[in-house]
Amino acid sequence: MHKYDLIIAGGGAAGLVCAITAARRGKRVLILEKNPALGKKIYATGNGRCNITNKKCENAASVQAFFHSIGLEIMYDEEGWAYPMSRQAADVVYLLEKQIRHLGVEVLCSRAVDWVDWNKKTGSGFKVSCSQETYESEKILISCGGKAAPKFGTTGDGFALAQTLGHSIKRPIPVLTGIECSDDIKKLKGVRAMADCSLYCKGEKVFSERGEVQFTDYGLSGICIFNMSRFLLVGEDISFSDYEICLDFSMGRDIKTILEEKKNVPGLTAADALRGILPEELGKYIVSRAGESAGESIEEIARCYCGLTFSVKGARGWQMAQCTKGGVSLDEINMDTMESKLTSGLFFAGEVIDYDGPCGGYNLQNAWESGIKAGMNV
Ligand SMILES: Cc1cc2nc3c(=O)[nH]c(=O)nc-3n(C[C@H](O)[C@H](O)[C@H](O)COP(=O)(O)OP(=O)(O)OC[C@H]3O[C@@H](n4cnc5c(N)ncnc54)[C@H](O)[C@@H]3O)c2cc1C
Repeated sequence: MHKYDLIIAGGGAAGLVCAITAARRGKRVLILEKNPALGKKIYATGNGRCNITNKKCENAASVQAFFHSIGLEIMYDEEGWAYPMSRQAADVVYLLEKQIRHLGVEVLCSRAVDWVDWNKKTGSGFKVSCSQETYESEKILISCGGKAAPKFGTTGDGFALAQTLGHSIKRPIPVLTGIECSDDIKKLKGVRAMADCSLYCKGEKVFSERGEVQFTDYGLSGICIFNMSRFLLVGEDISFSDYEICLDFSMGRDIKTILEEKKNVPGLTAADALRGILPEELGKYIVSRAGESAGESIEEIARCYCGLTFSVKGARGWQMAQCTKGGVSLDEINMDTMESKLTSGLFFAGEVIDYDGPCGGYNLQNAWESGIKAGMNV
């Protein structure tokens, strides 16, 4: 007889909702969490406000219903991004934890699961070890997250555990992060501007999104750039130098005509062409880039304004990334139950699986949705 019906390795977003769902079904659940406290990453989400889900997610309503059941009310902003009404991520953790305690789920923090194996003695279930201690359970959920933002405890342990149990891992890549450019744009640090942002790989457009670009000392940032980072290094034999970013600041306006008209204003020089149209430093930069090729002609300034290109040097690494692309191969998971197709009783949920979504609540939605699904099926 195993002591627990379910052991959950990782008390983050997916692990916590799975624990609640399983415990509501009468299961004896133990959470083993590496950090000294549960849900550490959740506090940092959505700049401390926790962007829980997005109204565009197919199952946003069921996640909302789950949170309603633990006493958390959700509201959507104009773009359909969902937050707790209080806009406090701490409230999400508080109410999840309150329910965990109320349902009698056992929680052991500062316990990093370092090894999982089938229980050979009893012929069913699992042995789970953390340093010197071993725990036994009928089923196990691996919800250790990915490798992004390791300061929250996510250092890729779930991939190693899954591998020892025979699963294959799609190469993990840090995404939802800033992109480093080879061009010297230090002078633009701190500038923000709206643009249509496109990413080209070997000359072919692979991504496009309108949004606010933030210039930094290393390159480009902002939500649209974070979303763009999900499209880097997709495919075999591709390196960062195969990519180019193109920013179009025109937003559909006919800049050439505007600039032609400005030419008639007495006293304005070519360098003043974009004054009042873009932030000063960015305007100057575009004029100087135009000057490099065609002597600051209106045609060339307009061309650069509608297609300012940057060479990609790299992406900010795991420390700065908000999500992991890659993970436990979805082919090896029954996505209706989150159970392994290779090992009965083994479940996966959250960022450890090969799913990544754009900014806007999609990644937490994946964690909640897969965690609840696993909790319903353990
Ligand atoms: C700064 C930041 C902001 C974000 N904002 C948003 C947002 O607003 N909206 C959104 O949708 N997504 C956001 N994300 C992404 C989102 O937080 C994650 O996708 C989500 O938390 C993944 O849930 P998870 O349960 O799989 O992993 P996590 O929430 O990361 O939890 C995994 C847990 O497992 C524990 N663990 C790891 N290894 C072990 C081990 N060996 N043994 C025991 N425990 C272990 C970790 O300590 C951690 O507590 C953000 C991410 C970051 C970094």
